[in-house]
Amino acid sequence: MTNVKLLLDMKREGRELSQEDIRALVASYTAGDVPDYQMASFAMAVCCRGMTKAEIFALTDAMRLSGKNISWEDSSLPVADKHSTGGVGDKLSFLIQPIAASCGVAVPSLAGRGLGLTGGTIDKLEAIPGYDVSLSVERFKEVVFKCGVSISTQTAEIAPADKKLYALRDVTGTVSSIPLITASILSKKLAGGAGTLVFDVKCGSGAFMREKPDALNLAKSLVESSREAGRKASALVTSMDEPLGFTVGNALEVWESIEILKSGKGSRDIVDVSIELAAMMVANAKDISIEDAQQECKQNFENGKAYSVFKEMISLHGGDIDAFLSTYGNGGIAASAKTLAVKAPRKGYISHIDAMKVAQASLDLGAGREKADDKIDLSAGVKFLLKRGAPVNEGDTILFAVTSTREDKLEFVRTILEDAIHISDEMPSEKLLILERVI
Ligand code: URA
Repeated sequence: MTNVKLLLDMKREGRELSQEDIRALVASYTAGDVPDYQMASFAMAVCCRGMTKAEIFALTDAMRLSGKNISWEDSSLPVADKHSTGGVGDKLSFLIQPIAASCGVAVPSLAGRGLGLTGGTIDKLEAIPGYDVSLSVERFKEVVFKCGVSISTQTAEIAPADKKLYALRDVTGTVSSIPLITASILSKKLAGGAGTLVFDVKCGSGAFMREKPDALNLAKSLVESSREAGRKASALVTSMDEPLGFTVGNALEVWESIEILKSGKGSRDIVDVSIELAAMMVANAKDISIEDAQQECKQNFENGKAYSVFKEMISLHGGDIDAFLSTYGNGGIAASAKTLAVKAPRKGYISHIDAMKVAQASLDLGAGREKADDKIDLSAGVKFLLKRGAPVNEGDTILFAVTSTREDKLEFVRTILEDAIHISDEMPSEKLLILERVI
């Protein structure tokens, strides 16, 4: 292949690399012929110099081609997927995917585990007894064909180049580059095979894109690169300054999602954003207007069709919702868990709840992992009774910290959680949830 040192010189000087050069670099890196130190240098040069659209597409495609690609040619339904950049209490996949599937869209969803403050979608699903997160590709397709949706783990066969490069970026200060993030996310989504894609780019103190211009640039980059790859795509930039919904933590979030799906109602930050994203998926996939898609999604959410799809998916994965509810049915809190109440320090209104601090407390309680092989306490996290905008009197319980494995941390997280809650004299204004649309 082309001399790697020459490519590094070119990238450092800000010159454009050819598609062939990028392909060869990625293929050689995946095969182990390019050492980590050269790839880290490449990643750093990209962070500093950026990439052209053609380079981003070439990198995405090269990483997609590094592993298995799932074909949906045999699907009678249009196939759509969504990706969220993730946030605190972000359980939206449990609503969006079944809602879209209930509207006649096939939704094969490959998700990941969490590393960092809270668990990922796959960790959350593991709170359901029996739920098999690692289906073979054949079984994954079978589940999608039977009930319209499957949420399964991304296997090692999907975009292995990204897995290797992401681990390297994680330890070389090269995660926060829009071209690298775009190629990383999109290579996996394209390998999953969906014909249309929707992105939820979270923005704010609890997200990894903190500033709106960065979040918007990432959303545009994901949409443009998807279109370059021949996929219909759109994105929302959504607010992530406060935890989403009333729960943060694995079983807690599954419990809240079941409650919302079952009743057809829930907090605005979850329901409104989920309906909007599901509608974007349905509109793109079925080629109908967004208004018609919104109506269909809202209807199927409220009439219980989306919940039926969710329940069927759980059962096809071997999961037992009844067993889950018998453990966590008491408001999402396991009978064996220890709790600590955090109370309002004075009369007023809850004006803000700091997502980052809540996530830190959840991690301390055992809900996330700091190292890839840490074991998660599925019952751990934070359960809110009251949220932003609620009037409080001194001593009212605002939330419970929950843990089964780190009882010794309960007092420690009390301070973090007390700091996370802001009380004002005035009722705060309603929060804008959808910050930007890229359509
Ligand atoms: N998520 C990914 O999958 N890749 C990134 O680079 C960042 C977030």
